[in-house]
Amino acid sequence: MTNNLLDRFCRYVRVHTTADENSTTYPSTPSQLELGRMLADELRAMALRDAAQDKYGIVLATIPATVQHAAPCVAWIAHVDTSPETTGLNVKPQIHANYDGRDIVLPGDPSKVLRTADNPELLALKGKTIITTDGTTLLGADDKAGVAVIMEAAAHLAAHPEIPHGPIRVCFTCDEEIGRGVDHVDLKQLGAHVAYTLDGSGAGEIDGETFSADLATVTITGVNIHPSIGKGRMVNAIRLAGLFLDRLPRTCLSPETTEGREGFLHPYVIEGGVAQVKIKVLLRDFDTAKLAERPDVLRAVAKTVTAEFPRAAVDVAVTKQYRNMADGLKKEPRALKFAEEAMRRAGLEPKLTIVRGGTDGSRFTELGLPTPNLSTGEHNPHSPLEWTCLEEMQTAVRVLVELAKVWGAAR
Ligand SMILES: [Zn+2]
Repeated sequence: MTNNLLDRFCRYVRVHTTADENSTTYPSTPSQLELGRMLADELRAMALRDAAQDKYGIVLATIPATVQHAAPCVAWIAHVDTSPETTGLNVKPQIHANYDGRDIVLPGDPSKVLRTADNPELLALKGKTIITTDGTTLLGADDKAGVAVIMEAAAHLAAHPEIPHGPIRVCFTCDEEIGRGVDHVDLKQLGAHVAYTLDGSGAGEIDGETFSADLATVTITGVNIHPSIGKGRMVNAIRLAGLFLDRLPRTCLSPETTEGREGFLHPYVIEGGVAQVKIKVLLRDFDTAKLAERPDVLRAVAKTVTAEFPRAAVDVAVTKQYRNMADGLKKEPRALKFAEEAMRRAGLEPKLTIVRGGTDGSRFTELGLPTPNLSTGEHNPHSPLEWTCLEEMQTAVRVLVELAKVWGAAR
């Protein structure tokens, strides 16, 4: 069986592009440049003449418009790096054609089993082509499924100039997994009116809402002195940190007790000693106005601690992280409407979904480029149990082509 999309996908996942949080270079790992070079070469081979990789490793190319009127420019975005949570070195994609609906034992590590009981979506794809890892690495469908889908859709449009569409910008970014995906994308140079990230799970979903997010740093300052003479003098910041954490809401407003549209406060890093302790707390809510009230909860708890220990100080500092994509999508409602239309034309019933997290699209949208996220066949990302489905990727290609047509008819 020859299949361009499958070949592409397997070719891209074999390139080791694991991002490295501890690196100070951009991109964080040089092999991301290697995949970018490969993609730029392949885009030029499709006669997308301006395809190039910039000094940050970001690949940009243009599919010129085939309509005569000035249709809005649409960008398709995917990231070439993979998560550092599981190695992406020597990925050996396993192709399960005509999948039989049973549990899949991964051959490189038979202790790793993809169970249908844990993956109900898998059962629904009986008879399709499933691609897994061999159990020793992640697959990298997050986000090389997106990369392959965009490349395949670009090749299709380049080969079919009779398909009416406006200008399309192809954009491959680096280091999304370590939160640096947007850092070096020049939105002016991208020149798009609207964008879509191809980095979503399954098929037929449109992520149009994300959390709004801030980070609070709670600094508890005590009084340190040698324990031998500590009586009546020492104020141990570690004990106060314990009190502080204990007094935070636990039965609500925590990731352990919330779901759907509920927000939370999530202490996730603590460090320090007797003199001082810092606690980092993630603040998350879909409602940006509500998010702004979350630090009050921390400050109220801080007050109870300093009331009891007046010689201690508790400071709460808040830095902004990202904002709910829905806030920025309001300015271009067609971004979601046209994606729904394209999915219907591709034979899917679109589902608008919310993300309990952020995407590169939340930052792009906040910067003024409306960027929803579309399904591209990802499952179990960041894990050796990661898998994808060829037919879901094929569907995503059809959605992109239809989306190009829908925007091509607009002004
Ligand atoms: Zn991703």
